[in-house]
Amino acid sequence: RFIDSAKARYWTRRGTWVYDNALLLLPKCLWSNVVPEFVMASGNTVLMRLVASAYSIAQKAGMIVRRVIAEGDLGIVEKTCATDLQTKADRLAQMSICSSLARKFPKLTIIGEEDLPSEEVDQELIEDSQWEEILKQPCPSQYSAIQEEDLVVWVDPLDGTKEYTEGLLDNVTVLIGIAYEGKAIAGVINQPYYNYEAGPDAVLGRTIWGVLGLGAFGFQLKEVPAGKHIITTTRSHSNKLVTDCVTAMNPDAVLQVGGAGNKIIQLIEGKASAYVFASPGCKKWDTCAPEVILHAVGGKLTDIHGNVLQYHKDVKHMNSAGVLATLRNYDYYASRVPESIKNALVP
Ligand code: AMP
Ligand code: MG
Ligand code: MG
Repeated sequence: RFIDSAKARYWTRRGTWVYDNALLLLPKCLWSNVVPEFVMASGNTVLMRLVASAYSIAQKAGMIVRRVIAEGDLGIVEKTCATDLQTKADRLAQMSICSSLARKFPKLTIIGEEDLPSEEVDQELIEDSQWEEILKQPCPSQYSAIQEEDLVVWVDPLDGTKEYTEGLLDNVTVLIGIAYEGKAIAGVINQPYYNYEAGPDAVLGRTIWGVLGLGAFGFQLKEVPAGKHIITTTRSHSNKLVTDCVTAMNPDAVLQVGGAGNKIIQLIEGKASAYVFASPGCKKWDTCAPEVILHAVGGKLTDIHGNVLQYHKDVKHMNSAGVLATLRNYDYYASRVPESIKNALVP
């Protein structure tokens, strides 16, 4: 549980506020000495305002992703090869996200996946609002003094582009990850086509968000049945290292789906027990936001050697030594990565 010092109330892990009269009686000086590591600042910090804006901005990007499909012209461009694509939705969503963030938070470092010409962005693409529910949440005390210029934002405007072009729409996510001192600490994932096969009455799209030390929200945490080893891995970027590593895990089942964001959602919703990708290809904008959501609920994401990923503004973009992520039982999967595969993947 966490305690909000200003109002002396507890934030329990079940997500309810509990007021504590005994704590209200403590003198303020004593109070700050008694529970320093649990104290939460108010939600009106730079970090919480940024997360609240990123939530609304990711929703707008999700609408753009849907609109491009509805209009029917995807404007597909090959980047490095036929499985590395960019569409009009990747371009417009990145313009929308990066310009909206930069207008409100001009001192941020923002790193987006797509290489785009710097041109004036249409006002229609700018999102100015913020998700008020997030501002009502307390900010973990270790982040309360963070300034705009201390933060690096990693943006994947459309994760799972290959699958998007093939109509596998629920594989697609919009990812906005926030890093401080090289560590991923907050993130937002919008899934524009969540529920798209659930019928006309279902609400289309959802947004998941999280901050380390506060929790992750917008989904129901679920675990794979105990003892089951279900591996999720790439659908469009496989190779021998990837398949050899998956086989070495001795899986009960293997899922091949698009998107790093989508695979982390599978972990937190009990559809897969480990995300295994023993190959270069995945970049920092793919892992930043998903890593936070997973870590906020007790999971773990590393490279295939077990190294923590770094998100400084000058870090290499490529996750050269792949990705290994689990909600539970990380050590089981890490212990099964063959030495030959580790030797082939240099961080
Ligand atoms: P996947 O699991 O194949 O959807 O990959 C997760 C993320 O990493 C997506 O954004 C992919 O575009 C990216 N990615 C993985 N492997 C490659 C690759 N060989 N070339 C380009 N992008 C890749
Ligand atoms: Mg991506
Ligand atoms: Mg992308």
